[in-house]
Amino acid sequence: SAQRTLELHLVPYDIEQYLLIVRDISHLKQLEQVRKDFVANVSHELRTPLTVLQGYLEVMDDEHLPDKAMWKKAHNVMLDQTKRMELLVQQLLTLSRIEAATKVPFDNEVDVPSLLATLEQEAQALNHDKQHQISFAVDSKLKVTGVSEELRSVFSNLLTNAIKYTPSNGIIQLSWQRQPNGAVFTITDNGPGIALQHVKRLTERFYRVDEARARNTGGSGLGLAIVKHVLSWHNSKLVINSEPGKGSRFSFTLPPELVL
Ligand code: ADP
Repeated sequence: SAQRTLELHLVPYDIEQYLLIVRDISHLKQLEQVRKDFVANVSHELRTPLTVLQGYLEVMDDEHLPDKAMWKKAHNVMLDQTKRMELLVQQLLTLSRIEAATKVPFDNEVDVPSLLATLEQEAQALNHDKQHQISFAVDSKLKVTGVSEELRSVFSNLLTNAIKYTPSNGIIQLSWQRQPNGAVFTITDNGPGIALQHVKRLTERFYRVDEARARNTGGSGLGLAIVKHVLSWHNSKLVINSEPGKGSRFSFTLPPELVL
């Protein structure tokens, strides 16, 4: 069982009598720990690309200037690392914006065709070196209310992950359909799958199954934390079904009150 933190207060009660008040502050301690971990994680995530940038910049200052091919390589690495920091900062801002929001700005109606069009574009760009077979089965007559900007980032995160983590020539199926219980979204891939002990923690900030591999793919580790938060705005939950070696399925249902 979890360790408890207790705070003891001795309060004068009567002549030569004291009252011992015991307060359970485990919850406050936990919050404090979450905050500390968060700051440590952000610092770590920023320091890694900065170290790489600094290393290359120092080499470039060398009198014996490396040849053109070296320059090209250094340039590419520095650009990649800069993009990584940019993504991290952008996702941190998104996370803090959605966590701070007190009133959720629902649209009258989400423009599903436009949302689908951006998704398809994004998939195409990312899929260039992956050559996955990606299929979209979205009910074009689907009408929902929600926060379109944030819903877009939910779809985009789940799709991007499927493309990134599935090895080349995979099969990815995205579907969004009206069902009796609401608008059901699923994305299935035949990638590496995720073991149960990781599945449970996947939506925690900065949690990654394989630190090294996930870093190489350029993720920030914040994507699913954002997804979870946005879905909670829509009274919905992310459901993850996965079998190591077979693939994963991420799904959620927008409840009937959000389906028009
Ligand atoms: P990241 O920015 O690292 O992709 P996410 O929060 O989006 O962060 O995802 C957390 C982790 O979940 C990833 O690092 C990866 O290990 C795992 N993951 C997410 N989607 C998939 C998937 N479709 N297949 C296998 N692993 C996945």
